[in-house]
Amino acid sequence: MQIVRSGSLLVLMVLVCAFAATAQDSSPAAQPATSPQAAPSIAPAPTTPAPATPAPTTDPLPPAAVTLNDVLDRVVQREHLFMAQMRHMHPMIETYLQDLKDDKDGNTTPVKDQYFLGRLDMADGPEDVSFVGQPGFGHRMVAKLTGVYSLHFLPMGFAQMVVLDSDFQKKYYKFTFVRREFLGEVRCLVIDVQPKEGDKVSRFMGRIWVEDQDYNIVRFNGSYYPQPRINFFFHFDSWRLNMRPGTWLPAYVYTEESNLKTGLTKTLHFKAQTRLWGYDLKSLGKNEEFTQILIDSPQSVNDQSPTAADATPVVAERMWEQQAEENAVDRLQKIGLLAPPGEVDKILATVVNNLLVTNNIDLQGDLHCRILLTQPLESFTIGHTIVMSRGLLDVLPDEASLAMVLAHELSHIVLGHRLDTKLAFNDKMFFPDEESFQRMDFKRNPAEEAAADTKALELLKNSPYKDKLGNAGLFLKALQEKAPELQHLIRPHLGNSFAGGKNNVRMSSLLASAPALDEKRLDQIAALPLGGRIKVDPWTDQAELSKAKPVALTSAREKMEFEITPFFPYLTRLAANGTEKVALTAGSPSQTQQK
Ligand SMILES: [Zn+2]
Repeated sequence: MQIVRSGSLLVLMVLVCAFAATAQDSSPAAQPATSPQAAPSIAPAPTTPAPATPAPTTDPLPPAAVTLNDVLDRVVQREHLFMAQMRHMHPMIETYLQDLKDDKDGNTTPVKDQYFLGRLDMADGPEDVSFVGQPGFGHRMVAKLTGVYSLHFLPMGFAQMVVLDSDFQKKYYKFTFVRREFLGEVRCLVIDVQPKEGDKVSRFMGRIWVEDQDYNIVRFNGSYYPQPRINFFFHFDSWRLNMRPGTWLPAYVYTEESNLKTGLTKTLHFKAQTRLWGYDLKSLGKNEEFTQILIDSPQSVNDQSPTAADATPVVAERMWEQQAEENAVDRLQKIGLLAPPGEVDKILATVVNNLLVTNNIDLQGDLHCRILLTQPLESFTIGHTIVMSRGLLDVLPDEASLAMVLAHELSHIVLGHRLDTKLAFNDKMFFPDEESFQRMDFKRNPAEEAAADTKALELLKNSPYKDKLGNAGLFLKALQEKAPELQHLIRPHLGNSFAGGKNNVRMSSLLASAPALDEKRLDQIAALPLGGRIKVDPWTDQAELSKAKPVALTSAREKMEFEITPFFPYLTRLAANGTEKVALTAGSPSQTQQK
């Protein structure tokens, strides 16, 4: 059987090798199983992993004298346990895909994109329930999908790539031990895995990384073989994080095909990132039980608060709007679409406060900022809560552009634009999660949008950001330019579009003050690659800033504005005694503007 090793595999292996060299225990004799034409120059340098901290010097030794056979017994056992666990897990799963084309200069640019968001249900194999109006991309949805994607992105789809083999058995595979190496601070055994000859069932072929304490697979990289006749399996690099002591669950899958022949004339060329989060449904409010509610004895309950006062009509109206706001925010968090309150909110709140103070605005009532956990670039307000998507935060190049986004949303609040208070009725919150985008809508009409733009400009001109608005304009220019190709990236699900078309860009008056876009200039960063700034704990949904160190760019190609890059999470291990150590990892290293 012919094995086509894609460029992605080569690049990944080169990078893995570079990564391993920084870890103290990696064997100096270790060689990647790649062909020599994998020139390092094709590896995107900003994605070179830079470990935030050196590997620990007191790493416990693996259990002594285990043979590869013993290890494999443990791996198979853990993998079956993993499958059993996953059947009870229902994380959110999001895939964002960019179709690529080589331009005349040999640079790869996105020409079209796709977006999937759903909740994974593996009770009966990998399956998902879609949130975005398309069918899911699991195998049961084959019949409903049409067009090119039904052919290429099925039957197993992206959801499949969280599973190595739903019936992983030693007897189906040949195993070859490669070396030991560190992934982040976790020491791993690296093992090559190949299905045995003559097996008609498609099985995983590639490389697995097994952590050397409990023998969980923490990463696997390859594809499934044999390839079916009409469909295709992609190459993927699938990562699991240590989310609970002893439990490693899927968090990131990077997929790339550079030249997959899918017909006589068609070839497939794309990159995709799949992220999973929202594992801890209990804390998201799904399993609240009546038994957990403390019932006071009747004697101690006093229905009448002695300080209660009747609400004036104005106060009643405000309370009513606040109730609608709280209902909507709670619901979005319970679904797993909104991160719980956290440190990133505070950073946004600081910028908002800068705008308020310098404009002498004293808003009645609290103002909150929250993070929507999804990729598409959007921001909106729910009452006095400003919501920004993770994807938008990722690509904004600097604080002035962030201030621009926040100033627009703040203006809706300052101008008193109303929240649809139908959400104050609790029955309006009874709907299946996957209908969230249809049932909750925070779109503004064009008049409100225009008014917010005008007000925002006024706020910005009095603010500390007034001299840096050229950068914000530059971001809008880049967004406007990419909008036709990246329609799914800029399509909002809950708010208004950022760039509806060539002549419809939010805050368009800033375009005039921006310098000309120059793709070749290294010191002009109009936008960042996707996934560089915010990292999400897939268990708790907490968002925090990535700790990756900025890297200097060596060529304009590395700017990769709005583009997909591979994942290289810095793996950490949770302490076995249950003391919570945060197991967060960077989606991909960040990149910041060179000063
Ligand atoms: Zn708006």
